[in-house]
Amino acid sequence: MVNKERDFNVSGGKRRVLLVEDEIVNQEIMRTILNDTYEVIVAETGEDAIKIVSSQYETLSIVLLDLNLPGISGIEVLRRLKDDPTYSRLPVIVMTADSDAEVECLTLGAIDFIPKPYPQPKVILARILRTVELSEDRDILRFTERDRLTGLYNKEFFYRYVSQFDLYHKDVPTDAIVFDINHFRTINDRYGKTRGDEILRNIAENASNVADDVGGIVCRNEPDEFMLYCPRRNDYDSVLDRLSVVTEDGENGENRIRLRMGVYSDADKTLDVERRFDRAKMAADAVRGNLTEPIGFYDNSMRETEVLAAQLIDDFPSALREKQFVVFYQPKFDVRYSEPVLSSAEALVRWKHPKLGMVSPGVFIPLFEQNGLIQQLDHYVWSETGAQIRRWKENFNMSVPVSVNVSRVDLYDSGLVNKLLNIVKENGLNVRELILEVTESAYTENSEKIVEKVKQLRELGFLIEMDDFGSGYSSLSMLSYLPIDALKLDMQFIRNAFNGNKDTRLLEAMIRLAGSFEVPTIAEGVETEEQVFTLKAMGCDFIQGYYFSRPLPANEFERFIEEKKAPFNRLENVRQTG
Ligand code: C2E
Ligand code: MG
Ligand code: MG
Repeated sequence: MVNKERDFNVSGGKRRVLLVEDEIVNQEIMRTILNDTYEVIVAETGEDAIKIVSSQYETLSIVLLDLNLPGISGIEVLRRLKDDPTYSRLPVIVMTADSDAEVECLTLGAIDFIPKPYPQPKVILARILRTVELSEDRDILRFTERDRLTGLYNKEFFYRYVSQFDLYHKDVPTDAIVFDINHFRTINDRYGKTRGDEILRNIAENASNVADDVGGIVCRNEPDEFMLYCPRRNDYDSVLDRLSVVTEDGENGENRIRLRMGVYSDADKTLDVERRFDRAKMAADAVRGNLTEPIGFYDNSMRETEVLAAQLIDDFPSALREKQFVVFYQPKFDVRYSEPVLSSAEALVRWKHPKLGMVSPGVFIPLFEQNGLIQQLDHYVWSETGAQIRRWKENFNMSVPVSVNVSRVDLYDSGLVNKLLNIVKENGLNVRELILEVTESAYTENSEKIVEKVKQLRELGFLIEMDDFGSGYSSLSMLSYLPIDALKLDMQFIRNAFNGNKDTRLLEAMIRLAGSFEVPTIAEGVETEEQVFTLKAMGCDFIQGYYFSRPLPANEFERFIEEKKAPFNRLENVRQTG
């Protein structure tokens, strides 16, 4: 399927011409005409010509072919070259005294003619140059519109072809489809990049066959994401089947590479092509991680989400200006003693939207992570939090460290370290008072870069908590080399352990293993006394959750600070009166 790319190799600054000519005199004439501009290689028979083409195809710019040859004829050489997809794009000019052969040669794929006896040298040179340039332009176009690895269209060209497709299929209902490999990174890690590339090429090949069969077009967008545009169908189960590939997996035998698919059926053609595929992508994301239902369809509820998303993005700048984002604080308790002791808090943002009321971060954080607005929002939350830590220090004469969430996107910001240090400095804090929560999935996504950045922050003294541990795909063994100061067990993970047929063995093993690496554990989302009791018995160090408190506005949170101060106050009183 994938044609070999021809490089425009130029030898010693000259393009190479293959002259297929048995007559010495004609060889000499052509050499004299061409030598200044081209490097000329001569083949005296058709067999030689085929041999040279097959071994030097990539460096040849053009073939000049005499029709009267000993052995196989020039016509036969032409037919063989044009029949082989590997060489078919190499341009051929036929040289002949027989004007009757013209039609046959053109039908076979020759591009032009040079009559014999030869015309003026400048005419010959002009014809050759024009042919070579035309062919190179075509190859450059091919090169730029195709993805190098798979030979499929790239996104830009695909979008153009989709528009053309619409012009030719005006009244045909059409589907926009996105499909994507589940955990492609893990596949790359597990099998290596070469295997990963091979898997991508296999899927591309399947996709290209499917596109041919269903009368559609296909492209590769992101490394592991493909897009298909085709007349409406209702057999996507079998389409998905045909796309998927199986790979050998050493001792485990065969392993099916799992794909997920999003279908925006009967796409609205008045929408931008990009928007149509955004919808298909939204449908694909809705089935992320769903192994039983790998195909998602764009529907009305997604439309509502989309409208809401557009509104939130529009409203963001004014919301930030008008301080509609409010930081709430949820306490974390140290449970290693007989009585739980307040140890720190987590800053959690809420949006007091003038029309929508209180909007939860679960709605807008993922959205702002997609379009980068998260960087501005997080910076705002960190600044607010820094100022709050300072005020508590001043008002209560006590340090309450607070953790802030650092999004994956923030870790790619080259200004991150300075932003954080400035907040610490401006508020006269100790770096250890502004704790950073980094979600586990950030580590697995681009481990090396992220690990480096986190290490740097840690060397500056920041404490790092790994958030949502257990939700991603990192393994516990990562704990031995990841730069972290505490592990926050994912809420879902705790919920599962205490669900219905309660099974806390995994939870216990994790806490114990973290302990063996001397990494303290924090359990979040803890709601019941039973959970607190069990977690404590397992050796969990800190607990955060509704059992102790929901996230609260700063002033309401202060009761925990006062409570913590109380024993000291009493002690002070005793000292003073005693
Ligand atoms: P997270 O960082 O894992 O935060 C914990 C979430 O669990 C919070 O949800 C919290 O309110 C909730 N939670 C705490 N205890 C319990 C409990 O006992 N039961 C239940 N059911 N839930 C509990 P929230 O505030 O809705 O935040 C959701 C997520 O949004 C956070 O998850 C965090 O990933 C993100 N987020 C919140 N604020 C920020 C922020 O300022 N910046 C960034 N980048 N992300 C934020
Ligand atoms: Mg968090
Ligand atoms: Mg969490």
